[in-house]
Amino acid sequence: MNNLKSTWIVSILLIVILFLFTVYPSTDAFVNVPELFQDVFRILLFVAILSLMVFLLTETNNWYKRCQMLSEGSNKNRKDKESSINAIGLHYKIDTSENYQQLIHYLTGIIHASLMAQSVFIYLFNGEENCYILQESSSSHKTQPLKSFSCEGELFGNFHFNPKPDLYQSGQISQDYLKYYHNPPKIGTLMLVPISVNGSYVGFIGTDSVDKETWGKEDLDLLIAFSNLFSNAVLQIDVVDQQEVYISFFRDLFRLNTEITFGIEPHELYKQAAGILKKFFNFDKLTFAFKNKDHSSALTIEYVEGSEADYTIGHEINLKKGVWEPIILQNKPTLIKDYDKSKVEFRFQPDDLKIIPFRSALGIPISSAAKEVGGILIESFKIDNYTKEDVETLSLFGKNFAEILNRLTVYQSMKDLAMVDGLTGIYNHRAFKERLQVEIERSRRYDSNLTLIILDLDKFKRINDTYGHLHGDYVLKKSANIIRGSVRTVDTVARYGGEEFAVILINADKKSCINTAERICKNIHSFLFEKDGMTERMSISIGMSEYPCDGDDMASLISSADMAMYRAKRAGGNQVIMFEHES
Ligand code: GH3
Ligand code: MG
Ligand code: MG
Repeated sequence: MNNLKSTWIVSILLIVILFLFTVYPSTDAFVNVPELFQDVFRILLFVAILSLMVFLLTETNNWYKRCQMLSEGSNKNRKDKESSINAIGLHYKIDTSENYQQLIHYLTGIIHASLMAQSVFIYLFNGEENCYILQESSSSHKTQPLKSFSCEGELFGNFHFNPKPDLYQSGQISQDYLKYYHNPPKIGTLMLVPISVNGSYVGFIGTDSVDKETWGKEDLDLLIAFSNLFSNAVLQIDVVDQQEVYISFFRDLFRLNTEITFGIEPHELYKQAAGILKKFFNFDKLTFAFKNKDHSSALTIEYVEGSEADYTIGHEINLKKGVWEPIILQNKPTLIKDYDKSKVEFRFQPDDLKIIPFRSALGIPISSAAKEVGGILIESFKIDNYTKEDVETLSLFGKNFAEILNRLTVYQSMKDLAMVDGLTGIYNHRAFKERLQVEIERSRRYDSNLTLIILDLDKFKRINDTYGHLHGDYVLKKSANIIRGSVRTVDTVARYGGEEFAVILINADKKSCINTAERICKNIHSFLFEKDGMTERMSISIGMSEYPCDGDDMASLISSADMAMYRAKRAGGNQVIMFEHES
């Protein structure tokens, strides 16, 4: 404004002087003036015009330069702001950091109380949306500051490019100053103090008051002190937040390691692992894929999360030239900043990137004793979504996860061992009961029947007594083999007690099983037990009961089969008796 005014004044002066120079000398006023004076006057006028022209030119030039600087400055400022905002990670902090939210909440509260303000408001500039976004406000007026406003107008237009702490009194405050309200209340005093983080301007703290001259310089200094406090705290929170993300990641991983229930289904384990990864990594798709030892060599998806219209569980992955190739074949982490520019030709199957345009990916191998080899792949629709640090973190996770898989496998084999009878190699008593319970429930659900056979070797004790326990053991082992070999593989064969066995025949009534029972009876009796001078024939007593007619729960079913078996024994052994209700 000032520049413009001075240009006009100088221009008018110039016109007046030109007029004097060209017109005045020819008027009557000059007639009586000696020629020397006339010449001196003309020279003086010429010098004056020359210097005025020089002044005018330099002023215009300066003014132009200032305009340029201002516009450059504003661009630079904006860039600084954007980078500073990214630098302190305000985007994620606003959404996620509880610490940050608490800090601004307390800060506005304290300022509100200590300055007796009508409203206190903290705005941070958002470079992407080119506007100020309200972080927190505390207002005793019903009109609350706006959630966001653009940095235009007389006050904020200037403040944004030249942020300085300032105090505005009622005379100076125009309606245009109050951009941060939709319907501004009465404002008598206003203070604005910039917030800088790491030397870059990121936003401001403002306070307003209804009364005129509520605040003076000391109050402005106080607000500046609060702003500095805020800046320092934000920096520290930034570090703490970053640490907290890591801490929570490792805490979750630790929990997964230590609190895992050993009977956990693989799907549930993958789900828990995915839950941890989700907190730490941004992805649009997560895939767990493994080559199973008992399967063919195909890498198969065992768990997915995200992008629905994509490959899912059970899908076999094409390795050659795809993203999984280095992960599986070279056993190394793979970071893809942009699928379009990478050597990798596809994700899971040729040409699939044309269908779903994933852009970046991070994959790590998992080798464990449990699964031959496998991996975790996270993918994003955004370019360059993963960093080298992410590779390290995910690799660490992968190693841990492999350990968990190993431990679960060891447990599984231990559990298998715990279910098997050490002497005979068939299911033990506990496993028998577990299986029987499961089969009864299944039969109940499908309204089908099952037959339970209980078998007890006749006069077994004499083997021990005559030949010793080792011979007794041998007879038990052989008998178990004979029983196992006399039934279908789907049937459960268990050692129920010392020289007692049990067989569960699913989907069958006892009449249709009588042949099986008799076959066992015959096979035992026809076998010649020979060991170290012992040659013996054995016989067995067999009782049968049927679910649900002879018992609709485990206890009654066992008791019915037992009763039938004792009947067979009492009848001389070496025979099969079906349970019958006594009439
Ligand atoms: P019954 O005809 O009435 O069935 O007579 P039994 O001799 O077969 O039955 P009893 O219950 O009197 O004896 C079972 C014996 O089985 C007693 C026990 O010492 C023996 N026994 C139990 N478990 C084992 C084992 O693991 N090894 C050996 N060698 N003997 C066992
Ligand atoms: Mg016996
Ligand atoms: Mg017995």
